[in-house]
Amino acid sequence: MKLAYHPTTIKLHYNHCPYAVRLWKIGMPYDRSVFHTGVIAHAILEEIGKNPQEEPRVLADKVVEEYCSKGRSYDGNPEPPAPFTDAIEGAQLALNWHARYPVPNGPDIYHEHPFAFDQEWNEVDYYSPKARFRTLLDVVEIKDEYNEEKHRPYRTAIIRDYKTSWAATADELDSFQRKCQALVVWLKYEPDIIILEISNLRLRCNFQREIIVRNYTETLNHWKKEITLAIKTLDNNLNPNPGIGCIGCPYSPKCEHFNSMYSSENVMKRYIAAKEIIAKLEPQIRKAAKDKPPQTMSLGSIGYAKKERKKVLPSAQATLLTEWKNQEGTIDQLFQQLDLGVRTVEKIARILTNNKQDREDLIRRLTRMEQYSSFGIHKDKRK
Ligand code: SF4
Repeated sequence: MKLAYHPTTIKLHYNHCPYAVRLWKIGMPYDRSVFHTGVIAHAILEEIGKNPQEEPRVLADKVVEEYCSKGRSYDGNPEPPAPFTDAIEGAQLALNWHARYPVPNGPDIYHEHPFAFDQEWNEVDYYSPKARFRTLLDVVEIKDEYNEEKHRPYRTAIIRDYKTSWAATADELDSFQRKCQALVVWLKYEPDIIILEISNLRLRCNFQREIIVRNYTETLNHWKKEITLAIKTLDNNLNPNPGIGCIGCPYSPKCEHFNSMYSSENVMKRYIAAKEIIAKLEPQIRKAAKDKPPQTMSLGSIGYAKKERKKVLPSAQATLLTEWKNQEGTIDQLFQQLDLGVRTVEKIARILTNNKQDREDLIRRLTRMEQYSSFGIHKDKRK
């Protein structure tokens, strides 16, 4: 029987290496503890969406109780219970989000919508043995409306993806995962308009991208071909390619090829391996050290230590202006003395303009790009 792949499985190949998919295929376990907060936030939002008559806080408590005692099952694989602190954080994120953007409900609003397709892109049951591509979407809203001017009905599909990472912003709207989401909804519901949404629960911000399907049919077909090719590729025997892709790879603690890179004679390879080890360890150490005094070690300590730095007071602008005027200085002269940084320029440009295009034009007139030498590991950006 051939396997069904998820967008995240294909991304293992894109972002890490083919061997990571091989480890996924054999069910190699990896540390999923970083996902607890997000998983619980998602589960609560799903419950709120499916049970609008219930009190959200009561639903959140039920999810926390269940996930912190029994654990959960992901795609049929049982996962251990979540730590209480992560669960509480997840619940708070979900409830805060719901307070600001109430979770919608109704007949054409689907929470945790499963999609599965066979090799020829025919829709099949999510757990069908014929499934070759599977994905679960957080929220799908289908709206059928009528365009009075054009005298015809049209369908809009809103695809909402909840994110708990600070980093998930507008850039995420062009990601591979978004392509997969647009494709499956297009295939099943044939909408005229697709609205992709990234709902960042931490930032409490919604980012949107609109796709007018008639202008995008070629692109959607191209995405379909890209995923079909990825599925065919992943069916092969997959060889390792240790290197920069190991950074952030969930399998690095279990992968013998990573270990070989770590013990290699090549100093660059060892450096990459060391970076990945730190990337894995630092979040754990930060968590363990939070709200505790630094742990004393030989010649120092590790954890959070109090340090001093100079900060500009909120009253500094007014004080400076008063002092300047006291010495007969003009605002123009004061302005000449200020060092403008890119962030300040962007902030002022935002105030001076009414739309994105004008803002970008003004920023282009105020800034220039230059090359500089930046040391470190430079990972190719993959969408
Ligand atoms: S740790 Fe490196 S070599 Fe091993 S699976 Fe991940 S990316 Fe591939």
